[in-house]
Amino acid sequence: MNNFTIPFSFTLPTKIVYGPGCISSLIDELRLNNGNKPIIVTDKGVRNAGILDKITILLEQNKTEYIVYDGVEPNPKDVNVEEGAKIAREFGADSIIAIGGGSPIDCAKSVGVLLAHKEDKIKKYEGKTAATKPLPLLITIPTTSGTGSELTFSSVITDTQNNYKMTVKSQYTAAKVAICDSELTLSLPAHITASTGMDALTHAIEAYTAACAEPISDAMALYATELIYNNLVNAYNDGGNLEARSAMLLGSMLAGIAFSHSDVASVHCIAESLGGVYDLPHGVCNAVFLPHVMEYNMEYSVERYARLAKAMGLSYKNEREGAKKAVEAVKKLAADVKLPLFSSLNVNTNDFEKIAEMSVKNISTESNPRPMTKEDYLNVINNAYRHK
Ligand code: NAD
Repeated sequence: MNNFTIPFSFTLPTKIVYGPGCISSLIDELRLNNGNKPIIVTDKGVRNAGILDKITILLEQNKTEYIVYDGVEPNPKDVNVEEGAKIAREFGADSIIAIGGGSPIDCAKSVGVLLAHKEDKIKKYEGKTAATKPLPLLITIPTTSGTGSELTFSSVITDTQNNYKMTVKSQYTAAKVAICDSELTLSLPAHITASTGMDALTHAIEAYTAACAEPISDAMALYATELIYNNLVNAYNDGGNLEARSAMLLGSMLAGIAFSHSDVASVHCIAESLGGVYDLPHGVCNAVFLPHVMEYNMEYSVERYARLAKAMGLSYKNEREGAKKAVEAVKKLAADVKLPLFSSLNVNTNDFEKIAEMSVKNISTESNPRPMTKEDYLNVINNAYRHK
C-alpha cells in the first residue's frame, strides 16, 4: 500500500560517523562538542572483548580525564542507570560515551536524562513526554548490529520493582554523535550475532508494515531488510568477515532510523513483555515471535510483505505468494543461525496470560497493521509455543 500522500516530518539529530576503524575520530568528536571529562558507560562483556581498552588508550594518549562505569546488565536495570548517574556526578562528568550493544547505550541515555534533570530515579521519566531537558554530550558507539539504539530516541530500561521494560523516550535522548565502526563488531560471538541480527530484521519488517510507516522510513526499512537478510548468515558463520559485519551494522543502523520514525509493532510488544518477566535476550524474543505475528498480520499486509520478499531477493508469481515466501524466509533464517524455539526457553505456560496482558498494553500495539486484542496475543503466543 502506497503512502505518498501522508504528511510526516523527519528529524535525525545525530551525526553519523561510519566506517571500519572510524573509532579513531572519537577525540575529534569530543573536542568539537566540548566534551572534556567523559564517563564511559559499558558492560563487562565489552571490557573482556578488549573494546573498552581501544577507547581508554585513545583518551589517555590525548590526556583526557575519564571514568568508567561497566556495571550495565543485559536488559539494563533502573538500578544500573541510577548507579551510573551517581558515579558520573561524583566524578563531575561533562559528557557520556556509550560503548556496547543496546544495553549500555540505553543505560547511558537514561544516565544522561538523570544528569540533565538533576534527579536520582529514572522511573519518573518513563514515557514520551517526561524528559524535557537536553542531555549532556552523548556519543554512542555500537558494538552489536541489532538495536540501532545509537540512532534512536528510546532508552529501554527494566523497572525492577514491577519486572517490566519501560521506555524513556524524547527528542532529547538521541545521541549527538554515533561512531559506527564495524571492526568493533568482529568479536561478537556467533549466538549474539544471530539474536541481534534478528532484532535488526524485526525492526525493519515492523517499521515497514507499521500503521504509521512513512516514505522515508520505508526507504530505510527496505534497504535494511536487503542488507540484513543477505548478510546475517555470513556474519554468523564467519565472524571475521568485515564485509558482512559492515553490511550488518549498516542494516541495523538503517532499521533503527526506520523504526524510530515509524514504530515497531506487536512482535516487540510480546518480546518486551517476555524480556521484562524472564530477562531473556531481546533478539531471541523477537526472533521466536516474528513469523507468527507476520502470519497473524498476513491479510492486512500482503502487499507490503511481498515488497519485503522482493527486498530479500525472492521471486514470486503474485503478491500473496511473495508475502508467504517472506514469512517462510524469516523462519528459515532464524533456523539457519540456530536461534532457539520458544518452547525451549523454559517459559511457564501459566505466564502466557500475563504476557498477553502486558503486550496489549504496550503503546506499540496500536502500530500493528492488524488490530490485536489480548486473546489475539494469546493465540499468537500459543502458536509460537507449538512451533517445532
Ligand atoms: P546487549 O547490549 O545486552 O549485549 C549482549 C551481550 O553481547 C553482552 O554480554 C555484551 O557484553 C556482549 N557484546 C556486545 N558487543 C560485543 C562485542 N563486540 N564483542 C563481544 N561481546 C559483545 O545486547 P543488544 O541486543 O545489543 O541490546 C539489547 C537491549 O537493547 C535490550 O534491553 C533491548 O530492549 C534494547 N533495545 C533498545 C532499542 C532502542 O531503540 N533503544 C531498540 C531495540 C532494543
